[in-house]
Amino acid sequence: MQSDEGAVVRCRARGRFKKEGTTIHAGDRVRFTFLSETEGVLEEVKPRESFLVRPPVANVDQVMIVCAPQDPPLSLQLLDRLLVLAESQRLRSVICMNKDDLPHDKESALRDLYGGAGYTVLFTSALYGQGIEDAKQQLCKRITVLAGPSGVGKSSLLNRIQPGLQLKTAEISEKSKRGRHTTRHVELLTLDCGGLVADSPGFSQLDLSGVASEELPFFFPEFQDFSPQCRFKSCKHYNEPDCAVKDALERGEIASSRYNNYLVFLEEVMAQERSY
Ligand code: GDP
Ligand code: ZN
Repeated sequence: MQSDEGAVVRCRARGRFKKEGTTIHAGDRVRFTFLSETEGVLEEVKPRESFLVRPPVANVDQVMIVCAPQDPPLSLQLLDRLLVLAESQRLRSVICMNKDDLPHDKESALRDLYGGAGYTVLFTSALYGQGIEDAKQQLCKRITVLAGPSGVGKSSLLNRIQPGLQLKTAEISEKSKRGRHTTRHVELLTLDCGGLVADSPGFSQLDLSGVASEELPFFFPEFQDFSPQCRFKSCKHYNEPDCAVKDALERGEIASSRYNNYLVFLEEVMAQERSY
């Protein structure tokens, strides 16, 4: 456990925690009493505001979705899927485009696309240290889980944000062009600015099985500017008449890649619902 002052205290849990079947997870806020400067007894686990299953971390505030504009090839569908997963857990998302040192011409398009949808978009290079202060600023005083495909530089980024963490980074294997998994158990890393970051990536399972088709439209923040004007309150913005979201799409006020990925996800969750 860690005290408010940042001291690491080794705690025993009282027997009743075991009896009650309470599991204590990374991110839990707890009350403990000191036995000595370095040892204590856990007295109470405070109610959790949120709990993420993958990785098992309590009280997560946000997801930093790390992608690379170029290598590995950027998949907007994967990015949109991670954003939906984060929205479905009511977590804030920050998008971090790492490897900005590699040549690409996507910066303004990505800023328009995701900034326009209300997300914070950062461009960083863990290799050259560019944009690292901004990325760190986003992590301070919050509990964050990183997400994103392997090989985009998640570990490199954390190492750059706080040298000394010495996370293992994987060389992209030439054969598969995919990074190898290097992280095993969950630990929250403490940043000197007061942020906590899970050392293993979130949302390793990418299916939308926890998402209902009625709620999916709400996980696209930019749709909410228009959906109150749809003829039907329960409009899924698919084939309904007088759909304000589709009108906005035609006017170019909603990005077609976002809308098309929405339809992909809608098909997916509806197929799941039919199979129940
Ligand atoms: P992770 O799987 O997302 O944790 O990615 P790693 O941190 O293991 O990085 C994967 C590979 O990308 C390694 O070879 C890194 O050296 C490289 N890498 C990480 N960040 C950058 C960057 O900003 N620019 C470039 N060019 N390469 C990077
Ligand atoms: Zn509609």
